[in-house]
Order: sequence, then structure tokens, then C-alpha cells
Amino acid sequence: MSQHIDQASLLAWFAEHQRDLPWRTLSDPWPILLSEILLQQTQVSRGVVFWQRLFDRYPTIQSMAESTEEEVLYLWQGAGYYSRARRLFQLSKVVCSPVENGGFGGVLPTAAAQLESLPGIGPYTAAAVASIAHGESIACVDGNVKRVMARQKSIKQPSEKEVQQWADDVLWQPDAGAWNQAVMELGATICTPKSPRCSICPVIESCTGTTTPDQYPAPKVRKKKRIDLMCILRIDANGMPELEQRDDSGILAGMWGPPLAETFDIEGMEYLGEIQHVLSHRDMHIKVWRSECEQGVDPSSVPLSSLDVKLLALADLH
Ligand code: SF4
Repeated sequence: MSQHIDQASLLAWFAEHQRDLPWRTLSDPWPILLSEILLQQTQVSRGVVFWQRLFDRYPTIQSMAESTEEEVLYLWQGAGYYSRARRLFQLSKVVCSPVENGGFGGVLPTAAAQLESLPGIGPYTAAAVASIAHGESIACVDGNVKRVMARQKSIKQPSEKEVQQWADDVLWQPDAGAWNQAVMELGATICTPKSPRCSICPVIESCTGTTTPDQYPAPKVRKKKRIDLMCILRIDANGMPELEQRDDSGILAGMWGPPLAETFDIEGMEYLGEIQHVLSHRDMHIKVWRSECEQGVDPSSVPLSSLDVKLLALADLH
């Protein structure tokens, strides 16, 4: 029979053992929002580096709104999932628009429901920012929370509704921000996907999955989709490659790189090799050829994704 989760133990553990992350000392919602958007799809160790780079350049939402999408993308280079950067820039513009024009006069809304109306903000990010920066009594659900819930209740495939219900039920109302962070921190550092450290877990008493935690939640078998593409590196007499801005959709939206397509006429071109680029749902294989062009672009002057850096490296261009 499961017991109620020991909120006091988890909060005490979090107060003592939480990781030292730079935004945790700040109460301003802007740096907190920045951290939540970055950490959605970037590991914490790399997320900290990108967060610092962006926060140094954009200490306020106004400073981003006065910048350009190109510069935001430039600073986001290497963090991946570039549509996040573009939506964050759009968000800064919306928030900094005058109220009479449908904006927020430069002030990020405080309520989760209003935050969710902004570009790029889903229920998780809205709940995280509203609870951490403003103390709104609302539970966050992310992959860490789902794992802790599945193990606490020994449920192999909990539905989103079940996880949300559990998160709502266990929420510590007096400080929802600290509580949400504590549950997520537990999932990130103790109740980890592989080899959870149950012997030092502050909420082992209420956990019914502790003898076989690896079974919860049951892993989803999801095969990565293989994508085969071709790339032509056209290089000018000064060693500068032809680069184009990617179109508005897809994971590379707005970034720059050499032409990519499913097929090109490659007759007479020099074959340089193949690169593989693995993303969460995709396994990209790109064969690269070299050719010439009249006028290239200096790669350091435009935002490049990690994929494009790899492509240029095949011709020693980056
Ligand atoms: S006891 Fe183990 S499985 Fe249960 S919540 Fe703690 S770390 Fe996770």
C-alpha cells in the first residue's frame, strides 16, 4: 500500500542538494524563462553555457526585442532546435509591444494561462515560470516528473492525464515553485532513467516501484527515421562557401548552410564524404560533393547549426 509522498523530506533534500544553476539565484521571470526554453531540448551542462551567453547579451526582454532574429540565432548556434530561438525572439517582440497594440508593454505576464498564449510557450514552460517566478500554485509536468510518478505508483505507461493528476495531488501549495523544482531535480539527479539511486532517495518510503524501477515507465520503442540527403559545397576562389538561409520551417529554420536536397546533379564534382547527424527522432545521412561558385559567404558572419559546421568541416572550411 503506497503512502503519501513525504513533501518535507523532498523539500529538505532539495534545499541541501540542488545543483548550483545560475538562474536559481534570480527571481526575475526573464532569465527563468530563458533557462526553461533552453533546457527543454538541451542538456543542463550545455544549457548553462548557452544561457550565460544569451543572458549576458540579453539581460532584459527589451534588449532581445531591440535585437534582430539573426543575432538571436547567431548566439543560439550549437544549441539546436533553432525554432526555439525564433519563437523566443517573436515572444520578446509581442511582450514589448504596447498594450494598445495587443502587447504587454514590456512586462512578461505573470499567470500561467497568459504565458501560454505567447509564442513558443507550452503548458510546461508556463507552469514552470509562473510557479518559480511568481509562486502560482500550479504543477509542472515534464519527463522527470513522469518518471518519478510512474515509479512512485509503479505504473508502466501512465497517461498524461494520470501524471498531471498525480502532480496536482502532490503539489506543495505554500511554495509551488520550490516543489516543482524539487520533483524535477529528483528525477534529474536521483530517480534517473538508468540506475536510479533509490538507497539515498528522500521519498523512498512512498515508492512502490523501488524494487524494479527500470520497468517504470516502460520504455517507448521509437525507431529514428532515417533521412538521406545530398549537399553541394560550392566554394569561391577565396575559399568561401556558398551559403543560403534555410526556409522558415523545420529544425534548421532560419539558420544558414550549404544547399541541401534529396537529389542534385553531381556530375563532374569531387565527392568529399558522408556525415551522420543524429537528432532525437531523426538519423540524418548526408553525402557531400564539392564544386565552385563565383561569390561565397564568410561562415563566421552568419548563424550556422552544428550540422552545417560538420558539413563545412568536410572541406576544412570551419
Ligand atoms: S525510490 Fe527509487 S524509484 Fe522510487 S522515486 Fe526514489 S529513486 Fe525513484
